[in-house]
Amino acid sequence: MAENQSEYDYVVIGAGAAGSIVAGETSAAGYRVLLLEAGLGVSPDNLDVWDPSRWYEPLKDTTFEIGFESTEQANLHNRILQLLQSRALGGCQIHNAMVYVRGGRSTYDHWANELGCTGWSYQELVPLFQQIESTVGISSPPASAFGDALIAAFGRAGLPFNPNYNDGPTEYGSVPFQYTVDAEGPRRTTSYQKYVAARRYRR
Ligand SMILES: Cc1cc2nc3c(=O)[nH]c(=O)nc-3n(C[C@H](O)[C@H](O)[C@H](O)COP(=O)(O)OP(=O)(O)OC[C@H]3O[C@@H](n4cnc5c(N)ncnc54)[C@H](O)[C@@H]3O)c2cc1C
Repeated sequence: MAENQSEYDYVVIGAGAAGSIVAGETSAAGYRVLLLEAGLGVSPDNLDVWDPSRWYEPLKDTTFEIGFESTEQANLHNRILQLLQSRALGGCQIHNAMVYVRGGRSTYDHWANELGCTGWSYQELVPLFQQIESTVGISSPPASAFGDALIAAFGRAGLPFNPNYNDGPTEYGSVPFQYTVDAEGPRRTTSYQKYVAARRYRR
């Protein structure tokens, strides 16, 4: 990011999952970018955020959690639902469940082929997915006896094993999830860390 300037080419509002990539890539392309975020930074020592096994803890932390609620839901016995939303450098990536999903091949192809979204076919997006994956860091947990037993049970019930729901012919099947987690640690990753903070510290 360009710092201490009075003029910018682009202003990006929100340093969440999307805004951080837009700001980081636009800045890397040589533009002067101002990234505005309403929330605070998360200390590297805050393991409630960074330790993936404690992912539900930040949902209770009002430093980051905005606390939006729904209105009474008539079809749910008038229950009021929590609408979780984080305000922080990292946005909802500081409290989400970290599951990494490219999105369905057929969905993108439908956009490209039937809705006129030129350049949005799955095959055209693959290099962008790969760039995000190598920058953000994606991992799967190591195999475990419990996971293996679960997948075997799904197989017996007729659900096929799918080793890679992101880069295979289909998303269907019983799958080992991929996570936005640095395997070393293991530690949660965010677009803000990888596209903005890490690049700034490198300069
Ligand atoms: C509990 C939970 C679990 C989830 N689990 C997963 C999962 O496992 N996998 C997955 O892919 N997705 C998951 N998601 C969804 C995912 O986190 C969001 O889709 C994603 O973070 C949205 O990215 P975003 O950039 O649009 O918004 P956000 O990441 O929410 O970022 C928006 C940012 O903009 C800032 N902002 C807003 N208004 C302003 C303003 N006026 N000025 C300055 N800053 C502003 C906010 O403070 C925030 O930091 C989960 C979401 C929740 C709530």
